[in-house]
This record gives sequence, C-alpha cells and structure tokens, in this order.
Amino acid sequence: MAIECLVLGAGQEVGKSCVVVTIGGKRVMFDCGMHMGYHDDRHYPDFARALAAWGAPDFTTAISCVVITHFHMDHIGALPYFTEVCGYHGPIYMTYPTKALAPFMLEDYRKVTMGQRGEEKQYSYEDILRCMKKVTPMDLKQTVQVDKDLVIRAYYAGHVIGAAMIYAKVGDAAMVYTGDYNMTPDRHLGAAQIDRLKLDVLITESTYAKSIRDSKPAREREFLKAVHKCVSGGGKVLIPTFALGRAQELCMLLDDYWERMGLKVPIYFSAGLTIQANVYYKMLIGWTSQKIKDSHTVHNPFDFKHVCHFERSFINNPGPCVLFATPGMITGGFSLEAFKKWAPSEKNLVTLPGYCVSGTIGHKLMCGKPTRVDYEDTHIDVRCQGEAM
Ligand SMILES: [Zn+2]
Repeated sequence: MAIECLVLGAGQEVGKSCVVVTIGGKRVMFDCGMHMGYHDDRHYPDFARALAAWGAPDFTTAISCVVITHFHMDHIGALPYFTEVCGYHGPIYMTYPTKALAPFMLEDYRKVTMGQRGEEKQYSYEDILRCMKKVTPMDLKQTVQVDKDLVIRAYYAGHVIGAAMIYAKVGDAAMVYTGDYNMTPDRHLGAAQIDRLKLDVLITESTYAKSIRDSKPAREREFLKAVHKCVSGGGKVLIPTFALGRAQELCMLLDDYWERMGLKVPIYFSAGLTIQANVYYKMLIGWTSQKIKDSHTVHNPFDFKHVCHFERSFINNPGPCVLFATPGMITGGFSLEAFKKWAPSEKNLVTLPGYCVSGTIGHKLMCGKPTRVDYEDTHIDVRCQGEAM
C-alpha cells in the first residue's frame, strides 16, 4: 500500500515542523510547529489547504492522531491553534515531560508575540490549557494502540528533556519520524537510542546536516573563552535562549567554570519562568543522562551555585554580568529589551546558543556583522561582539 507524506512545514527549511503521513489508510500528523520568523499566514502550517486536498469535512475526520516530538515552538507552537481554532479534537500524544513543560514554553512565547505587528490568529492562555487537556502522555518505549490498526512508540531522542523519535505502524507498514535528535550525550541528556526496526519510511531532521561543525568541546571552550574575556573587560554577556533546553545545559557549563575559575561576576536568569523550569527539571531527573541520575542524590546538578534571579531594573546596572534572557533568536520580549540596551556598546557580547530561523534578529547576527538592526520602528546600533555557538 502506498505511503504518502504531506510536508506542511520544515521541508528544506528550519521552522514549523509538520509532516502528515498517510500509512495503511491512517493519517498521522507528526509535530505541529510554528515558524518564528514570520508574523503573517506563513507563521503556521497551511492547514486549510491540506484539508481541501484531503477532501475531508473536518480535521478530526481527516487525521487519526497528532504526535508531538518535543516542546520546542517549531514543533508544538501551532498545536493550540490547531485544536482550539481549527477545531481538531482527535487524539494527541507526547511524552510526560513534554506535556508537563509545553504549557510554559507556549505561554512564554504567546506573551512575547502578543501585540506584535501583524500577529493574527493568536491563541489565548485558556486555549493553551484547553489544548493540553486533550493530550495523552506516553512513556518511552511504551507501545500505544491509537486505534485497532495504528500503533505508535516513542524512543529517547537526547535533544531536550522529553524529546522523542516516533515509530508508527499500521499492518505491515512501518515508519519513523525523528524530530530533532542528538547522538552525543551532553551534560544533562543521554544520546538518542532506538531499536533495530524494519521500516518503509524514515523521516529525519537534518538541521546541521550540511554543515561541518567544530566538536562540542571545542565550541564550549570558545564560548567560555569569549564570555570570560567579555566580563574581564567589564562587559555584559547576553545569551538569548528559550527557557528550557540549552539554557540548563549552558548554566551547568558556566556554573562549573565559575567555580573552577573563582569568578564572582553574577550570572542571571531573566525570568521566574526559568527558575520554575529548573524546578521541573529537578522533578524530571529520570529523563536526563545516566551520569546525572547516578549523582543527583548527592548533588543536584540543577542547583546552580552562581546563578541568580534577574530583576528588570538590573538592566541599567553598571559592571559586568552574564544574562540568560528569553526568548531565543531575539524575536521580542526581554531578550530584545536587553539587546536594545546592550548592543550599542563594543564592550558587550551577544552569544547565540541555538539555531536562529530567518526573519529574526538572531539570524541577522548569525549571518554576518551588522552595524545596525531595524526592528519595527526602532534602529539599534550594533557595536557589541557577536558569537554563534
Ligand atoms: Zn528542537
């Protein structure tokens, strides 16, 4: 039987991952992401066109289930829109940590984009809560019988906490959709792991597939060197990041380095959200790497010694500091506010720890050394150092 893939987003680009696969007569939607570089219709996958192509009366009839791989906005950001605005009310699956953490990510981002120019079709906080109620959580390697013919199973992806690669099977047709995955264990996550499976289709993420990157230790060394140099010169380091994921990994790296070097410069987290996120991380320790699982009873690695809470008024404080501010890619919110303030000084440093999609300030910084960035009606002079990690 033919297997059909309809790529509604993230085909040959990063952003709004959403692939609908028809397999053995079942239609499964893998991920339901948003594109952070757009504020118009291109923001979400083109659901209406898909529905027209399927000739179905509504999404619930058209789709057997939705499976979300992880809590990043480019994989889940359109889900509340899909359920609460488009009216899909069929089954939705994700792992326990993804279900626990997704509302924070969605709400954080919703607040950032609220009132931004051209930002239409926005969902509310209540929509997020209503949407999350419809989600069935699943465990790793748990075989979930979606209906009498369709089976799905999640495998550890090692990308962010709770991230999974998804196996789906109908009759003798089987496939895997990976989402983002990582084969090298880092400070807080293990490596991706999957069984030996017989597949008809493999859909895999390939964000960095074409680029040859320095090794992780080399990138981390460069990062620490740049941060240390900046704060020794009295500068401020801005790290725009999402609340969960890289933020925790980099905090561990910096906290450790601060301890070894005896540094006293403050490291700040911009939002209470991130502090709260760390509480969740502590609760979800079973999903982290073996090394952390083994050692956390002695020392919880998420109890950072040198990291403290940031008050909004600190932004004008003199002297060096390191600041983690949400959202990543500098698309608005507090990371933009800090960027506006600090970018004009050559003493300061902006470090971009993750991939930045086109259309964002982060992307402009990654692509070259701009001397000026225009955002809506503001011009920001950029004299600070920039670094991608
Ligand atoms: Zn991701």
